Amino acid sequence: MLTVRQALDEARLSRLETRLLLAHALGHARPAHAHAWLLAHDTDALTDAVARDFGALVERRLAGEPIAYLIGHREFYGRDYRCTPAALIPRPETELLVDRALAHLPADFSGHILDVGTGTGCIAITLALERPRAHVTALDVSADALALARANAAALGATNVRCLESHWFAALDASERFDLIVSNPPYIVPGDAHLAQGDLRFEPAIALTDAVDGLESYRQLAVGAHRHLAPGGRLIVEHGYDQGESVPTLLRAAAFTDVAMHRDLATLPRVTTARLGFL
Ligand code: GLN
Repeated sequence: MLTVRQALDEARLSRLETRLLLAHALGHARPAHAHAWLLAHDTDALTDAVARDFGALVERRLAGEPIAYLIGHREFYGRDYRCTPAALIPRPETELLVDRALAHLPADFSGHILDVGTGTGCIAITLALERPRAHVTALDVSADALALARANAAALGATNVRCLESHWFAALDASERFDLIVSNPPYIVPGDAHLAQGDLRFEPAIALTDAVDGLESYRQLAVGAHRHLAPGGRLIVEHGYDQGESVPTLLRAAAFTDVAMHRDLATLPRVTTARLGFL
């Protein structure tokens, strides 16, 4: 019989990952509470079923599967999102994009926001919940990702998010205009070594790389933003740490104004904000 403490001590993973997987095998949905529970129950014996499930999770983690896919959720901007291999795992650096967007939206903002390539929906849903009077539209080309975004919106009570299956801006009416367009698009250059490392090996390639030169998404976004941004509206995009010059340059060349690059908490170039001036 394996006790909780033995299971924690014997796993070949970090303490944190071991705890997350054991809590998941025990059926705890909330890791924060599970930690306290594990401490208080460290002499409890695991049932055979739990020990087996935990062992299988450890093996899968040792083979590289992301923790977020194994336990099925990840925290973003203080809220819990369901995660599946249909979408990119929410990352802390993307919270910068949310912060830059919120900086431009008053608390009672009641305009229209578009998120292109929503994945789990974490950006669209955060903006919708932080600005409850806003009308948020979330697009994704993947039906599976969109189902996940819908499930997350429902679970978090974001009733002001509309999810549409769309190749870039295709599903929008030609006349639709937004005050803000946000996107964390695929921006990794094909063949980049990062794609063969860590969690990225298990994430959908379509969410990671544009299969061109890392800038193709921004060309698509620039064209779509010209069609669908209201006059004076803003485009805010996440990009790679090595695209802190190329993305602003591309947007300036596409006639955007007030183009500004922002660095993430690791001081890496990560987000560019831009405006479409009045004609
Ligand atoms: N930030 C991710 C990474 O480099 C990539 C996300 C993306 O392509 N949008 O791990």
